[in-house]
Amino acid sequence: MIDTSENKNTQKTVKPQEHTQKQLEGILALAQTGFLQWRKTSIAQRTTSLEYLSNLLLERKREYAELMTQEMGKPISQSLAEIEKCAWVCDFYVKNATRFLADELIQTEADESFISHDPLGVILGIMPWNFPFWQVIRFAAPTLTAGNVVILKHASNVSGCALALDQLFKDAGFPKGCFQTIFTDYDAIEDIISDQRIQGVSLTGSEKAGKSIASIAGKHMIKTVMELGGNNACVIWEDANLDKHMDTIVNARMQNTGQSCIAAKRFIVVDDIYEDFIEKFKEAVQKLIAGEPEDEDTEIGLMARTDLLEGLEVQIRKSVDQGAKVTLGNRSEGSYFEPTILEQVKPGMPVFDEEVFGPVAAVIRAKNRHDSLEMASNSKFGLGTMLFTEDIESARKAIGSIPDGSFFVNEMVKSDPRLPFGGTKSSGYGRELSKEGLLEFVNKKTVYIN
Ligand code: NAP
Repeated sequence: MIDTSENKNTQKTVKPQEHTQKQLEGILALAQTGFLQWRKTSIAQRTTSLEYLSNLLLERKREYAELMTQEMGKPISQSLAEIEKCAWVCDFYVKNATRFLADELIQTEADESFISHDPLGVILGIMPWNFPFWQVIRFAAPTLTAGNVVILKHASNVSGCALALDQLFKDAGFPKGCFQTIFTDYDAIEDIISDQRIQGVSLTGSEKAGKSIASIAGKHMIKTVMELGGNNACVIWEDANLDKHMDTIVNARMQNTGQSCIAAKRFIVVDDIYEDFIEKFKEAVQKLIAGEPEDEDTEIGLMARTDLLEGLEVQIRKSVDQGAKVTLGNRSEGSYFEPTILEQVKPGMPVFDEEVFGPVAAVIRAKNRHDSLEMASNSKFGLGTMLFTEDIESARKAIGSIPDGSFFVNEMVKSDPRLPFGGTKSSGYGRELSKEGLLEFVNKKTVYIN
C-alpha cells in the first residue's frame, strides 16, 4: 500500500494511498465517539498520556530525527533538537495544564461566578513540512489536554512523519479516536470542515492556504487559528554588540536552511554600523558548514523540494533586475542552495515584499533608528521583529510601534512553550503555546450561580 519514492521534486518520502470517502466518514465518526469519552477524563489522566508521549519522543529521538532528515533535508543535529523541543512542550503542559484549565473565579453579586474551560470537540490540524514533528506536537499537545480530539492532515511531502506521529499517539496510550491522521486532497478537506462534527481548525502554513481554509471555515462558522508566513525584520542599531550576537543573527536567518516562518528575512541595518555589519555577517555566513543532511556537523542542509528552490531563484533574479546586489552565494546544485546575501535591497523588490523561504538574507540600509523601525513594519506580514541594540530604554520605547505578534531584543524570534506564539496581519491570528494556546480551542463558559 505504501510506496517509497524519490523524485526530483522531493526528498525521499512515503506516499500512502488517500483515504476514501467511506474511510474519512469512519475517521470522523471515531473522532466524535472518542471525544465523547475523552472529554470526561480528568486532566490528570490526559497529562499521564502526554507524559508518556514525551518519554517516547526522547526514547525514539534518533529514529524520528532521521525520518525528518530523510523526508525534508533538515540537518540531523537540528532534527534531533526538534524532537527534544517536542518533549519540552509536552512536559510544559504536563506541569501546567491543571492550573491553566482551572475555573477562573470572577467576583460579581452572584453567590459564585466563574469561567469554566470546556473542550470544543473534534479539531482539524493542517500542518506544514518545515518542522514536521514540532508543528504537530505544539498544536496537538495542548488541544488534546484541553479535552478535544485531533484529526491531522499533514503536508504531503512528510507522510512518513505523519504515519510515525499517528503511531506515537497510539503507543502513548491516547484512546482510540483521540489522534487520527488523514491522507486526502483539498476538496475532501473542504467536505471535512463543513461536517458538523468538526469544531475547529488550526492551520500552520502559507498565507494562500490560510485564506482558503479560513474562508471555508468562515462559511460554516468554525473557529480557526491561523499560523501563517512571515517576513521578519532583524533591525540592527548602531550600538549593537555584533561580536556578542553575530552567531544568533546568522542562526536567525539560516536555521532549518532558511525554511522557517520566524526566520529573520530582512536585515535592516542603520547606516553608521552598516559596513561593520556586512563584513562580520558575511564572514560568519561563509563559515557555515553545508553538507549532507545526515552528517552531524552539517548546518545548511537541502531545500525540502526543488520547486521551492526554483521559486527562490525567481525571487532573487527579479530583485537583482530591480537593483539588488549579490554579495555572497546564489548558486544551486540539485536541492542545495548556497547561503546567500543580497545588498541594496529596497521595498518593492520580491526579497523585501515577499516571504523568502530559503537561506537568503536581504540586507537593507536604514538612514537612522527611526527609518529602521518604519522599514521593519513595512510588511504585510506580522509574525515578529528582532532588534539588536545596547540601548534597552530606547528598545522599550519602540515596543508600541512594532505591529507584530512578537518583539525580541538581542535575541532571535523563537518559539518557547512558556510564551504565546502567533502573528498579526497576513501572518494570521490566534496564539499557540503557553496558556493562550491551550485556551484557543475551549469554550470559555460563563457560569453564574445564585
Ligand atoms: P502550505 O503549502 O500552505 O501547506 C501547509 C499545509 O496546508 C499542508 O498540509 C498543505 O497540504 C495544506 N494545504 C495547502 N493549501 C491547502 C488547501 N487549499 N486546502 C487544504 N489544505 C491545504 O505551506 P508549506 O509549504 O507546507 O509550509 C511553509 C509555509 O508555512 C510558509 O509560508 C511558512 O512561513 C509557514 N509556516 C508558518 C508557521 C507559523 O507558525 N506561523 C510555522 C511554520 C510554517 P499539501 O502538503 O498536501 O499541499
